[in-house]
Amino acid sequence: MPGAARASSVSVRDLRLAYGALTVLDRLSLDIAEGEFIVLLGPSGCGKSTLLNCVAGLLEITDGQIWIKGRNVTWEEPKDRGIGMVFQSYALYPQMTVRGNLAFGLRNAGLPKAEIETRIARAAEILQIEPLLERKPAALSGGQRQRVAIGRALVRDVDVFLFDEPLSNLDAKLRSELRVEIKRLHQQLRNTMIYVTHDQIEALTLADRIAVMRGGIIQQLADPKTIYNRPANLFVAGFIGSPA
Ligand code: ADP
Ligand code: MG
Repeated sequence: MPGAARASSVSVRDLRLAYGALTVLDRLSLDIAEGEFIVLLGPSGCGKSTLLNCVAGLLEITDGQIWIKGRNVTWEEPKDRGIGMVFQSYALYPQMTVRGNLAFGLRNAGLPKAEIETRIARAAEILQIEPLLERKPAALSGGQRQRVAIGRALVRDVDVFLFDEPLSNLDAKLRSELRVEIKRLHQQLRNTMIYVTHDQIEALTLADRIAVMRGGIIQQLADPKTIYNRPANLFVAGFIGSPA
């Protein structure tokens, strides 16, 4: 983009998403810089998952454009967008081992066996799941399952990680452990990450910038300090100030 200070990694332009008569996102725009950790924060039903799913290509948008790494991907298949998605519900294949889960997408993409093994070894080391590779998901804890889910995006070497409330199913201790882990992962990889949560603490500790959403509209987009110290309006002040 001419004049842009930093290259945009993900750019959402005038996005509109309606379910029939219900408009969930109305002309929403958002520019995310290369390597930035953006948190979409807001109460349940405000449109966070919808926005993430539009970027991922899992929802057909009503109007507007999605750009990733300078490419208009609005009509591209999810698998071609260079994104990896991590859901609250893990979405692992229960009949496959952890290794099988990690290898699945790579085999489909036709990668050579040796390359698949190399990538799995690297991801397993980064996420500390080497001892779990031959287990099935049922034999893992929630935190371990979520590491595997992150590993599935990691092995694909994606440009952009998308997280939809990845810690919501975990107990408080695991939640804070994995939060630290995700932060470390970002510091190590420097990928662009878009992270959806309704949890203020997660947002304040993880984000480079937080987009506070309400009713499909971004109320404020700023770094955590600014959001916390200088909320743009009463909604942001109340939402950041009060526990979930
Ligand atoms: P959040 O992730 O912030 O909790 P969502 O993006 O899931 O919110 O939902 C935003 C709004 O869109 C909500 O009002 C929700 O009821 C509505 N919605 C989500 N999915 C559908 C759907 N498949 N059909 C109709 N309305 C939907
Ligand atoms: Mg959601």
